[in-house]
Amino acid sequence: MGCKYEEQKYPESIVKALSALSFSCVNSKNGCLDPIPYNALYDHERYCGFRLKNCSGRKKEMIEKEIKDHEAICGFVKLYCNICETYYQRQHGHDKLDCVLGRQEHAQNEFKKCKEEYRQLEAEMQNKRRH
Ligand SMILES: [Zn+2]
Ligand SMILES: [Zn+2]
Ligand SMILES: [Zn+2]
Repeated sequence: MGCKYEEQKYPESIVKALSALSFSCVNSKNGCLDPIPYNALYDHERYCGFRLKNCSGRKKEMIEKEIKDHEAICGFVKLYCNICETYYQRQHGHDKLDCVLGRQEHAQNEFKKCKEEYRQLEAEMQNKRRH
């Protein structure tokens, strides 16, 4: 006779009863009014379209479903220019001059990087020569 350990489980009848129940979503105050069956609740709340999220441009909470439309027009959202490889805020705009300046800045940064790499390489070479 040993000690018998049994994992505590809810009786099947309770699980069945729970899955038959529906719950309201935690985001019901934001407009998610559909009843969610118990066994789908966890997944639903992770992907619910009524979750609050911040606009990627600035801290402003809104419903996930509406964020796409909002971000398409929001002036605070950062856009990326492929030509000069820099980010700019939509409200600031990005014209040809900005692009030239952006490209210049980018080139300067690249140049700085190259210079640093070159210096490192040079230092390494000198170290090797000394040995
Ligand atoms: Zn929901
Ligand atoms: Zn915004
Ligand atoms: Zn540009």
